[in-house]
Amino acid sequence: MKAIEIFEKHYPERTEKIREKFPAFLETAREVEVVPWQKEFQVADKNPEAIDEIEFWNTLLDSGMITREEWERETNRIMREVGYSSKTVGIAFIKEKQVSFRHEVPPFNVLVHEVGHVHFQEVDTFWSATYGGGEILFHLALHDRYKITEENIRRFHSLYHLAVENPKAFADLVVEKIAPYFGDQIVPAFYPICLFSGWLPFGVSSAEVDTFDLRNPKWLEMEPDRTDTAGFIQNLTAGLQYNDTFWIVYSQKLGIIE
Ligand SMILES: [Zn+2]
Repeated sequence: MKAIEIFEKHYPERTEKIREKFPAFLETAREVEVVPWQKEFQVADKNPEAIDEIEFWNTLLDSGMITREEWERETNRIMREVGYSSKTVGIAFIKEKQVSFRHEVPPFNVLVHEVGHVHFQEVDTFWSATYGGGEILFHLALHDRYKITEENIRRFHSLYHLAVENPKAFADLVVEKIAPYFGDQIVPAFYPICLFSGWLPFGVSSAEVDTFDLRNPKWLEMEPDRTDTAGFIQNLTAGLQYNDTFWIVYSQKLGIIE
């Protein structure tokens, strides 16, 4: 059976909505095979998503992009999360274009989540709503909350990768796109942009600059912390979800919403 059959048979109205917003997604659903659920899918070390994700962090560690501490923190987090095996209701095998569901008719969000893995070719770190990933944008679009296209979601994923893999390049991009919006109210640097939204990022705790003094040139010398560049991305999707004015503007400037 192909995933499209579950969409059309059990969620006809919402499937029409997807057709309107993300037609290519349904083309993928036509190719994705639904395979029978197996007990092993609930076991952490048989969870290919978790393994993909751990491999991703291994690559970052091997290429010296993250410290051993960061690697331990992230892999421990993954193992902790997949440890809740009883909550596993679906799984995706991205390369094989297969999905599997614990229940014959999975909840709509689970169906979208697993097919979305295959369609966007992203692991949970970047796709899952739990981590502020692209899945949130997908649902916001279906609810007509913002004008969000397939291209916007792909751009968001590439920004998320950049934020995790190259914090400095990500921060530079944020400054280039967003700092002009504030004119001379701030110096063109990453942290003042964060602070202006009312968010207090982790990295400013070590700064010797008053967090109200957003025109202080000292901000220009500060290297962004990876926690904060990833946090910035998560604030974008959370901000859109909760109608935060600043994060809506930031999302527009970064090309995540139209
Ligand atoms: Zn997932």
